[in-house]
Amino acid sequence: VSAAGPPGGLIVDMDGVLYRGESPMPGLSDFFAVVHDHPYVLVTNNSTVSAADCAAKLERMGVDVAETAVLTVSEATARYLVSALPAGGRALVLGSPALKQAVAREGVEMGGDEVEAVVVGLDVTFDYAALAKAATMINRGAAFVATSLDPVLLTEDGTVPGTGALVAAICACVRASPVCVGKPSPAMFEVAASALGLPPADTLVIGDNLRSDIGGGAAVGARTALLLSGVTLEDEAADGVPDFVFEGLPALTAFLVEAWAR
Ligand SMILES: [Mg+2]
Repeated sequence: VSAAGPPGGLIVDMDGVLYRGESPMPGLSDFFAVVHDHPYVLVTNNSTVSAADCAAKLERMGVDVAETAVLTVSEATARYLVSALPAGGRALVLGSPALKQAVAREGVEMGGDEVEAVVVGLDVTFDYAALAKAATMINRGAAFVATSLDPVLLTEDGTVPGTGALVAAICACVRASPVCVGKPSPAMFEVAASALGLPPADTLVIGDNLRSDIGGGAAVGARTALLLSGVTLEDEAADGVPDFVFEGLPALTAFLVEAWAR
């Protein structure tokens, strides 16, 4: 690795790094065979899945990962809410069942006529009534929290509106700006590093997105490794922002074997 020595732990983006949709990336099992004995946390900006969903998906791909090694943006958002809300504070949550379950698990009450926070994740039932309620609460002083600001999502069916598109609709009719918890926000990387018990500078952030993974990781002082297996095209990676660039998991795994052997 660099003069700073081998990474103490890994923060690993999942989609586009470990798998694409339901297809495992080549070299997935070998990667985990090497990483298994080192601290790692798997992260995702997808607010529609739980840690259990992610662990189950990897299990279908033949990889055994503990639920506690997975940090979804819904869980990071729920923990952020606990730290940001006054005791007994309530939240209006626009989002998936996974997001609402994560918030409930942290003990934050949802619903009611008055709330102290409005949380926006990917909500496929978003409508005018939800927009009106969210805007009213934010304009009355509720905190405005977003799981992501990405305006679009790449899916197997093409490009669809992302959480950022819903956030933009709310931004059009409120006076406040949202706090984003998901990557590239420092919040997600700080929660992940603290789950490893490491300062961010001792971690290696591995991802396929230059902005959310590499830019976000670098902003908290982590070293970064870009994998070209996902959304980033090689010519975009030429700007030299990541510390390391790999074609895919096999090259990354070989690098980690060598780094940790020293
Ligand atoms: Mg990704």
